Amino acid sequence: MSSKRRIEEGLDDNNSAWATEAPLPSFSPTPLEGDCEADVAIIGGGYTGVSLALALSERFPERRVVLLEARRVGNGASGRNGGIVLNLMPHPEQSPQQSALHYAATTGAIERIEQRAKAFAPGSFKRATVMRVSTTDENMRENAEHAAELNAVGVPVRLLDARELSALVHVAGAKGALADPNGGSLNGVAYLRGVAAELLRRGVVLHEMTPVLRVEQGTPRHRVHCEHGVVSATTLVLATNGYTRALGFFRRNLIPLSSRVVSTRPLSESERAAIGWSDELGGFSDDHPRVTYASLTAGGRMVFGGGARLAYRYAFAGGTRDDGPDTAAGYDAIEARLAHCFPALRGIEIEARWSAPLGLTFSRACSIGRMRGAREVLHGVGFSGNGVTMSNLAGEILCDIYAGDEARWQGHQWVHRRMEWVPPEPMRWIGYQLFTRVLGYTPRIKPRDT
Ligand SMILES: Cc1cc2nc3c(=O)[nH]c(=O)nc-3n(C[C@H](O)[C@H](O)[C@H](O)COP(=O)(O)OP(=O)(O)OC[C@H]3O[C@@H](n4cnc5c(N)ncnc54)[C@H](O)[C@@H]3O)c2cc1C
Repeated sequence: MSSKRRIEEGLDDNNSAWATEAPLPSFSPTPLEGDCEADVAIIGGGYTGVSLALALSERFPERRVVLLEARRVGNGASGRNGGIVLNLMPHPEQSPQQSALHYAATTGAIERIEQRAKAFAPGSFKRATVMRVSTTDENMRENAEHAAELNAVGVPVRLLDARELSALVHVAGAKGALADPNGGSLNGVAYLRGVAAELLRRGVVLHEMTPVLRVEQGTPRHRVHCEHGVVSATTLVLATNGYTRALGFFRRNLIPLSSRVVSTRPLSESERAAIGWSDELGGFSDDHPRVTYASLTAGGRMVFGGGARLAYRYAFAGGTRDDGPDTAAGYDAIEARLAHCFPALRGIEIEARWSAPLGLTFSRACSIGRMRGAREVLHGVGFSGNGVTMSNLAGEILCDIYAGDEARWQGHQWVHRRMEWVPPEPMRWIGYQLFTRVLGYTPRIKPRDT
């Protein structure tokens, strides 16, 4: 198959509720026509690529940064997700110091998202409480322990009992929750369109509707081949998360996984009152092995995903377009879960169903750094279902790595992290089926994560 066909086949359009509600971009796409040179060529206009371009334009305004996006910015997972902005809630096995370090890093990243949204995309971000709902006594006990450990190192999460939880939302069967007051909700399409307009004002060259078809690594310059031109650049950055495999990178480490989600029509006031969704709440996930999650858009649509094995799909050989035989059944399963969690919304009109690829790694941890064995190729990949904050933070980290000034990231395990090896096909596909069908776990988080 030609590289053009392979790349094109992996892409589709964003029909999410976020796209429906986002203001139209203030600029038209300018696909690459002809050859050009750059100091840095970034492939991918999601949170990782756009946040890096912004950081570079702030720090190195004189350097030429070219950002290449196959469709429009925010067309991938960044514009199609659950919209929940999360701090890293580290695993209890991590040292308290590490937990505090991680939380501080993600809190800072969320503050910057908030500032940028205010400046460039007003209304796209809302500061809010986010939480992990417990539906079992066992999970409540685990959350209580976890909250105590996190509080001891200054992480201000709160354990909510059932009564406190119901002041934020009524989820059927919920016993309580672990709540973080420092999260939020973000319309990625609106945010990225606003930040991209700022990039253009700062002189970053943005070529949308420009799929990269092939990368030729070289010294002193890499050559990035697109249909109507080549960008030659000293530094190349892969910001293509779940799509990276199609470009020939990290084939042994990244598992592209389609994650499906649905949105309702805007809720009426009485429907919102019936589910008790408070203005303070940005969104929640739960302790279900297949992790349910939900948020409300600014326009009042409920975005709801997970909660079923079929909410995710791994296509043999890692395709990123979700057009499998179980696609319709996957959305039906998500909608059944929505009705289970919110009986008052049973039968509500579902306005949109969509999916996007996650870039799963074996340990679920992302990797941000320099690619081993390659000269001046940087990457920020491996973001799964909780990657909104981390992929935004990745831009800052990559800018520091590019600048040779990364000391402040020492001790953060994702920086220059070597991703685990994942077996090739057909073992990979068989392994996925065993993990999800037989063991019953979602690949979105590690089973032992809380
Ligand atoms: C359904 C779903 C729900 C989620 N919910 C949440 C949530 O609630 N909270 C949370 O924290 N995280 C969530 N996530 C995860 C989060 O959205 C991602 O981790 C994050 O957006 C990754 O950002 P990125 O910029 O690295 O990748 P992407 O946003 O995928 O960006 C990659 C970009 O590269 C472009 N591209 C691909 N191939 C090429 C090419 N050949 N040439 C040029 N451009 C190319 C794509 O078009 C895309 O725009 C969810 C993800 C999904 C799919």
